[in-house]
Amino acid sequence: MKTITEERRDIPVAGESDLLVIGGGLAGVAAAVAAARNGVSVTLLEKSCVLGGLATLGHVCVYLPIDDGIGHKIHGGLAEELMHVCTRYSYNNIPDCWRAGPAGVDPSSPRYSATFNIPACILALDEFMRDEHVNVVFDTAFCMPVMDGSTCRGVIVENKSGRTAYLAKMIIDSTGDSDVLYRAGADCELRKNIVSHWTYEIDMDLIRNGSTSNDVLQNIRMRWFGLRPDVDNSNSDLPMLYGTTSEGVNDYLRLSRSLALEYLKKNQRDGYAMLTLPFIPQFRMTRRLKGLAEMGLTAGVNVKSSIGCVAHCLEAPAAVYEFPYEALIDSRITNIAAAGRMVSAGGRGWEIMRCIPNCVLTGQASGTAAALAIRAGCTLQKVDVPALQNNLADTGVMIHMYDELRNNGNLPPIRHKSVAPTANKDSLSGH
Ligand SMILES: Cc1cc2nc3c(=O)[nH]c(=O)nc-3n(C[C@H](O)[C@H](O)[C@H](O)COP(=O)(O)OP(=O)(O)OC[C@H]3O[C@@H](n4cnc5c(N)ncnc54)[C@H](O)[C@@H]3O)c2cc1C
Repeated sequence: MKTITEERRDIPVAGESDLLVIGGGLAGVAAAVAAARNGVSVTLLEKSCVLGGLATLGHVCVYLPIDDGIGHKIHGGLAEELMHVCTRYSYNNIPDCWRAGPAGVDPSSPRYSATFNIPACILALDEFMRDEHVNVVFDTAFCMPVMDGSTCRGVIVENKSGRTAYLAKMIIDSTGDSDVLYRAGADCELRKNIVSHWTYEIDMDLIRNGSTSNDVLQNIRMRWFGLRPDVDNSNSDLPMLYGTTSEGVNDYLRLSRSLALEYLKKNQRDGYAMLTLPFIPQFRMTRRLKGLAEMGLTAGVNVKSSIGCVAHCLEAPAAVYEFPYEALIDSRITNIAAAGRMVSAGGRGWEIMRCIPNCVLTGQASGTAAALAIRAGCTLQKVDVPALQNNLADTGVMIHMYDELRNNGNLPPIRHKSVAPTANKDSLSGH
């Protein structure tokens, strides 16, 4: 490939804070709020002009269930709180039985989940960040980490002011694609994605023939173009694409929008309108950290360094896994933690961890761990894990859910098995 040399130059430092969060999807929002609530100054850098990431710009306005499908709550803490923030200013279809925030309901109750209105969610997230004293800087793309050995001193960004730097003691990578960790030298895994495209449409025939109900969602239809993740796509002509190269992103955008246009040409008529298109490519899994440890895939066991419980949110009854702290950090980089759909979970674990509630849990855990490390003046590898667990548990996070259920007499005693997190053998192999 042809290359040119970038000129060496001094650039202005636009901001300094204790913590920088890069990427304002729901994981980044949770990381920033968790850290701010733990008394550190936080700046969040977001390349688009709204918060929410895939959940807003990518149209994924379905906050998947935070219960196990048989009446027990899996998520408390910010994963529960953010569901209520997302639904604060529009239709709120959280089932009544869960509204008071109980730990458990009748097993046949509806799942604890919600669909939210995207503009109302964006506005609520703005307010949430303002109230939590997080300094959000929009329209600012992370370019490069400023590394000093294995420590990151800050990041170089590009925005309307040109190229500037933000400095911090700790960094959270919540870009969804491990952009920061990868460019800092962390070991990562790539995955190709199917092309799929969600949009929303309104149809006057549907409304005229439709309900007398006051439920606006019954009159707005989701339209899906391309492939579904839950079926065999091996006979499809559509290519699988990477979300970590400019070519992959552009191919994805062109292809997914051409599928929408094809549909529109066939269905154009009075009384029909496509309401909106996703404004970021709807990649599911792109690049993830291969951290100090991987999430284990044995359900129901006690993980000593658990930062909370996770499950594949669509399963019922859901198998519940405890997620290890070491899967949020790299083995060498001392002060960048991962949050969201790019944490260290391989295979089916990656599928599980990309569900919104699980992304928010890892956001809360990484933000809290970074704040504890800042206060203790230590690296992320030296964080006091029991103190982190106590801090998270105080906010309602279920660290060892089955232990809690058993202690409350809600589960029959089962053979207790304790496991250490799976060490990542490849984590010293560079990227
Ligand atoms: C089609 C589809 C359907 C899905 N369906 C569901 C569902 O029904 N329910 C569910 O729970 N989950 C669903 N998911 C998964 C879920 O939406 C995502 O995994 C989750 O929202 C990811 O959150 P995140 O914060 O980790 O990352 P993201 O939402 O991807 O946020 C990353 C943020 O970082 C920003 N960013 C990226 N690079 C930079 C940079 N260089 N500089 C600054 N900012 C940057 C982005 O703009 C974005 O705001 C679905 C995903 C897809 C694609």
